[in-house]
Amino acid sequence: MSKRDYYEVLGVDRSATPEELKKAYRGLARKLHPDVNKEDPKAEEKFKEVSEAYEVLSDEQRRANYDRFGHDDPMQGAGGGAGGFGGFSGQDFGGFNDIFDMFFGGNGGGRSRGPQRGADLEYQLTIDFKDAAFGLKKEIEIPRTETCDVCTGTGAKPGTKVETCATCHGSGMQEVYTNTPLGRMVNRRTCPTCRGSGKKISTPCTECKGQGTVRRRRKIEINIPAGVDTGTRMRITGAGEAGDRGAPSGDLYIVIRVNTHDFFKREGNDIYCEVPITFVQAALGDEITVPTLYGRETLRVPEGTQTGTLFHLRSKGMPKLGNGVSKGDQHVRVIVQTPSKLTDRQKELFRELSREFGEDTHEQSKSFFERMKSSFLGE
Ligand SMILES: [Zn+2]
Ligand SMILES: [Zn+2]
Repeated sequence: MSKRDYYEVLGVDRSATPEELKKAYRGLARKLHPDVNKEDPKAEEKFKEVSEAYEVLSDEQRRANYDRFGHDDPMQGAGGGAGGFGGFSGQDFGGFNDIFDMFFGGNGGGRSRGPQRGADLEYQLTIDFKDAAFGLKKEIEIPRTETCDVCTGTGAKPGTKVETCATCHGSGMQEVYTNTPLGRMVNRRTCPTCRGSGKKISTPCTECKGQGTVRRRRKIEINIPAGVDTGTRMRITGAGEAGDRGAPSGDLYIVIRVNTHDFFKREGNDIYCEVPITFVQAALGDEITVPTLYGRETLRVPEGTQTGTLFHLRSKGMPKLGNGVSKGDQHVRVIVQTPSKLTDRQKELFRELSREFGEDTHEQSKSFFERMKSSFLGE
C-alpha cells in the first residue's frame, strides 16, 4: 500500500503555516483519538496516520526533507525516525504528548525524543563539462558537527566520572501522571535535568564544553562517476552531522551542477554541436574534422549538403551514469557559411558561376515563391 501524502492526510495546503498545521492536526486528532473512538477499529489506524503526518510536518527540518524527498526521506527510514516514531506499536501512540497538550493545555515544551540522528547535509558542487564526462576525484571541505574525539562524545572530561541523572534515574524521560475525564494519562517528556541523556556530567569536557560534539571543517574525498549531470544527487552515508549521544550520523548529499560548454550541448546522454562548413564543401562534399569528447573524428559531408543537416557519430556522447560502458551519440549539425568580403576576382567567378547556372539558379526560389503564393490564397 502506498503511503498517503502527509499534507493530504492533514487536509492542508503545502504552504500551510505551523499554526495551520497544528489546527488541522488538533481537529483530526480530537475526532480520531482511539480513546474516544473505541468502536471504530479504523480510528486507531487513521489516528496513527494523522499523528505521523503531523510528527514530520511540525518539525522544520523533517518537513523540509519531506518536501524534498517525499516518503523516500532518508531521515525517516533510519532508526524509526528522529522523533522516536519507531516505538509506535500496540497501545503506545506516537502523538501522545501532543494529544495530551491538546486536551489539557500541557506546556508543550517537552516532546519525548530519544537520541537524535545527525542532520543530513547538502553540498552543491559545480564541475566542468569534461569532468562530468570522465568523472573525477575531488576533495571538498564541509563544515559539520562531529563527535568530540577528546571525550568520545560523552561530554565528560576524560578521567572524570559520568553519573546517572538523579531526576530520571538514567532513562532520560520523565513521566507525569494526570487524572483526566478519559482516565489516568501519562505524559512522557524529555528529562529537564539531563535533557534526555540520562547522565550527569560534573566535569564537562573542555574541548566540547560538555556538548559531546564539536564543529569542524572536514576534508572529504569524493569520487564523482562519469556521466553525472546537473541535478545528480550523490549520497554519502554517514558523512553528515554527528548524531546526539551516540545516535547515528546523518548523510551527506552532493548535488552536482555541470558548467555549460562552449562547443558541446548536452541532452540526456547525447551531445550536440555545430560545425561550420564552406559553401564549396557543402556543394562538392568533403571530409571535415569534428572534435568529440574522445578526440577528433573525421566526418564525410556528401556532395550537395544543405545547411542545418544533422550527422551522427555513434557512441561519442556522454557515458551513461552507473553503466560505465555504453554512451550516448554525438550529433553534428553543419552550418553552411555564406562567403562575405569577396575579392573582385572571387566576385567575378561567382558571377560567371551564376551565368553558368543560367535559369537553374532561380528554379528553386521560383518554385518556393509559387508555393508561398498558393498558400496565401488558400489554394
Ligand atoms: Zn568533548
Ligand atoms: Zn535526567
